[in-house]
Amino acid sequence: MPLADFEKVLDGIKEKNPNKNMTVCVTGGEPLLRKDLEAAGVEIRKRGFNWTLVSNGLAMTRERFDALIRSGLGGMSLSIDGLEKEHCYLRQNKKSFESVVSAIERCVERHEKYPRLFLFDVITCVHAGNIDALPKLRDFLIEKGVEFWRLFCIFPSGRAAEASLSLNSEQYRRLMGFIIETRSYKNKDGKSIFASHSCEGYLGPYELKVRNYFFFCRSGVNIGSVMCDGSITGCLSVRSPDFFQGNIYKDDFMDVWNERFKNMRDRSWTKTGICERCKSWRWCEGNGLHLHNDARSACAYCNLRILEE
Ligand code: SF4
Repeated sequence: MPLADFEKVLDGIKEKNPNKNMTVCVTGGEPLLRKDLEAAGVEIRKRGFNWTLVSNGLAMTRERFDALIRSGLGGMSLSIDGLEKEHCYLRQNKKSFESVVSAIERCVERHEKYPRLFLFDVITCVHAGNIDALPKLRDFLIEKGVEFWRLFCIFPSGRAAEASLSLNSEQYRRLMGFIIETRSYKNKDGKSIFASHSCEGYLGPYELKVRNYFFFCRSGVNIGSVMCDGSITGCLSVRSPDFFQGNIYKDDFMDVWNERFKNMRDRSWTKTGICERCKSWRWCEGNGLHLHNDARSACAYCNLRILEE
């Protein structure tokens, strides 16, 4: 998508959105592949919005990091999925660990200098191949000075399903216990890290124990996205075309935001299949929308069931 097309979306939001407290989060794929990312950042800032990035850090040289900061970058999330062996395994790239660690060091430095202007966390996708490495990864991240750590589980789809990377029930409960323990953990020097489970699904008895807020799928409620082909959706993890609400090449983003998104804001249609008679539906509302293959059928994955098995 040419940057000018996204600038039109930003102009429309600036004109029609009374809530100026908005952050544009650039994700991917890998956003650093875009050569004009810094120019995009400047345009976002010009319109008064904050902007952040989710990256694997592989292409984050010192020069690139400094250029992003100069273009007003207000925060970053970096993916790290274990120590060197586990991290490089998932990415099949021997340089990926070294690169993300350098990027983490730059972010820590920036966050320590400007804690309110530059927010930073690391995110870990937990699977059967790295769950045992989490305690060592925790110590490593604390040592590096990371303050915030978000953990989520691999979703059994595509190659992740083929490689049997999904957590079984025992491993999933172990992950919950690990996050709870980490929240009061201190390393040998008395340093800690704030760990949370991501927003991916309803966790029943673990709600408010592994994250600070009760489960709430924000897709289309307070998260709206523009995909690279112009499609308008809620959270970028919600990728079924059934959930696409329009396209910036045909529709005005703010008109779509104000008038559509009905299947994300009223979740009653999710009361089907495994969710139809579920006693937890009133709290879960059919789980995260990214766990639905379309906007008609039941949720394909119930976190609570896995935890309770
Ligand atoms: S069965 Fe459906 S509504 Fe019940 S907890 Fe699982 S995903 Fe949520």
